[in-house]
This record gives sequence, C-alpha cells and structure tokens, in this order.
Amino acid sequence: MANNRLIEILNSNTGLLEDLLKSKFLQNEILGMLKSIEATIPEECRENFYNNLSTLRICFNHDKSFCVNNSTVINLDKRLIYLAENNTENKFKEELLMEAYHELLHLASNTIQVIDGEVRGNGGLQEKPKIQDGKMEFTDEYEELTEGLSQLLTLRAFGKKSKEDTSKYSTQVEKAKILVKKVGLDTMKRVFFNNRNGMEPVKKKLIELHENPNLCAELENECHLKNEMQIAGFER
Ligand SMILES: [Zn+2]
Repeated sequence: MANNRLIEILNSNTGLLEDLLKSKFLQNEILGMLKSIEATIPEECRENFYNNLSTLRICFNHDKSFCVNNSTVINLDKRLIYLAENNTENKFKEELLMEAYHELLHLASNTIQVIDGEVRGNGGLQEKPKIQDGKMEFTDEYEELTEGLSQLLTLRAFGKKSKEDTSKYSTQVEKAKILVKKVGLDTMKRVFFNNRNGMEPVKKKLIELHENPNLCAELENECHLKNEMQIAGFER
C-alpha cells in the first residue's frame, strides 16, 4: 500500500525525524502533505519522490551545515515557522504549509542533492540530464517554468486561485498556466516528476498543435502580450 510506503520511508529517515523535532507543527502536518503530494504525482512517476524522500533533510534558513553527503534538501524559512507556531491566526500556518508543499514538490521532481557539501541539481523541469565527470549536470533553463508549475500545483492543492498567490512567483505562475492550458496538466506533471525524456514530450505536443516548441521564448512573448491586453482592459 502506497501510504504504508510513505510511513516506512519517514520512519527510516532518522535525519529527517531529527529536523522535524524543530517544529511540532510541521511534524504533525508532514504525513498529510506527503500523502497529498504522492496522490498528485502520476503513479508511474513516483520513484524520484520516494528516493529523494528517503534521504531528505530540512534546512532552516539555508543552514546546510548538518546535511551529509548524498542527502536531499529543502529549505524553509525559520521565521515563518516561528510565526506559524506562535500565532493563533491560520494565515501563517497556511503560508508555512504552502511553502513546505512547494519545496516538497521540487523534491519530488528530479534530484536536489548535497554532494561534497554543495547543493547540486534543480528540482524541476529539465532537458535530459547530461553526465559530466560522472556527475549529473543540470541547467537552469526552465527555472521560471519550474517555479511557476510548483507554485501552480501548490495553489491548486490549497484550493486557491492564482490571483490569491502571495508568493514571489506570480509571473512564473502565469507562464506555467499558459503551457498547462496548451499541453495539458498530465503532460506537464509527467515531465516535471520524471525527466527521463527531458522536455521532449512537451515539445512534441506543441509541434502537434502547430505551436512554437521553443518554450521559453514563446511563453515570454505570450505573457507579455497577455499583460499588455490586461493593462488595456481586453481580458478579464
Ligand atoms: Zn521553488
């Protein structure tokens, strides 16, 4: 059973359990969040998520000093954890959960690893990774789209509209939305959570639709156009 697998992985990752002791709130919420993320990933694309979760450490404010080699990491804001734990208002709790969810999506997507004390990799959309000197080499070509899609999936998981987004990623979310509309959420999830074929499935879909497969340039244009139309009052 999938849920048992999550519990097993959590229980055997003692480093992560140690990190979670720093926040009672996160400790209580983590399993629910992981279950929700697991459910959002197409079943045959979940291996990355399970593998990365088994070595996950949570950093607070980029303090990676405790991370051992070959662990995977996400970073959370210590101040936000303090606010979430010490306020009765739900606002900060939700903000913290959304931040954690967004970061866990990066984790579920491809690999972010600490190797020789250095964080390597970029959880998200990638061309097929190249192997250089025995190590995987990543580019940040799709960084904006990656952030946009992570945030879009986060907003949807929390039942929020993109205009309610309080993160710094609103432009990126718009770009991701344009692409999701064109090629479908399922295609986007498959390339996000499993990069075995890089961005090829998305480009193929775009070509079938007679669209420009050069994602970055195209989305830049369309976003620009959309903004101009919005400013001019043509849309919504
Ligand atoms: Zn991010």
